[in-house]
Amino acid sequence: MVIGADLGGTKFIAGLVTPDGRILTRHRATVPTSREFDAVVESVARTIESCYVPGSERPQAVGIGVAGQVDPASGIVHHAPNLRWKDVPFGPRLSARLGIPVVVANDAHTITIGEWRFGAGRGHDHLLCLCIGTGVGGGVIADGELLRGATHAAGEVGHTVLVVHGRPCHCPSRGCLEAYVGGWAIEERVREAARERPEEAAALLARCGGIERLTPLAVEQAARDGERFAREFLDRVAEEFAAGLVGLVNAFNPETVIVTGKIAEGFPEFILRGREAVRTSCQPPASTARVLPSWLGADAGILGAASLARDALPSEAPA
Ligand SMILES: [Zn+2]
Repeated sequence: MVIGADLGGTKFIAGLVTPDGRILTRHRATVPTSREFDAVVESVARTIESCYVPGSERPQAVGIGVAGQVDPASGIVHHAPNLRWKDVPFGPRLSARLGIPVVVANDAHTITIGEWRFGAGRGHDHLLCLCIGTGVGGGVIADGELLRGATHAAGEVGHTVLVVHGRPCHCPSRGCLEAYVGGWAIEERVREAARERPEEAAALLARCGGIERLTPLAVEQAARDGERFAREFLDRVAEEFAAGLVGLVNAFNPETVIVTGKIAEGFPEFILRGREAVRTSCQPPASTARVLPSWLGADAGILGAASLARDALPSEAPA
């Protein structure tokens, strides 16, 4: 048994996972608001321990996906903006606290591994996984292996440029895909649009209770209910996502693309527009790539991280 876990900027979730990919127990916690390193390590350790089954052997290892730039070999988190961490020895510290090995990886990589080994990408050796949440991350399985890159940062597809001199991003660049379709960007943009066109946005604003309550999820709900301003706004966002996807499919030539994350799950047009754009705008035969929703949702990160932890265990000696 191993633990698989996912550490975001505000939430932490962990589960006890069997070798065949079943999650037996799971617990979640809120990340301490201070984001202070020692406090987060302690909170994460306690949440993991609450997944242990009393009377059973303790798990053999922990795998944990972190939203940020991570070195899986050393367990150091180089840069995690949502946690306000820079160069912290997260893996070694958590391992010392729990007394078992800890494998740390980028969270989009653990989600990709989860979907590849247990979800919608199972059995596919050429896979692109796109995670549209607060930010936009991704992972690539190429020729049956996770593409890691020189600094373990391959797959940061959210920071491919969609618009030259475009909107400022949270990375050093401008005009990135994330700055248009990430959750933080959708929130900024829909509020801007509502300020610029208050008459058109009046019904949406009345429904949500004011501009400060225009969150991506509220806009998605309104769009699903047919509210016109929300619908037109998100149609445009889905079109921008689809344009970004065409470039990524041309670059990586996957057989399957999995679109996951809270924002993507809330608005099916991301999948529909993406599918259509790949079919009509990618270079054949790359245009045959299938675009699918996630099968696993939030469990993909737990299962992928658990899988990486299991890979790192010494293989058993032959009998
Ligand atoms: Zn960027």
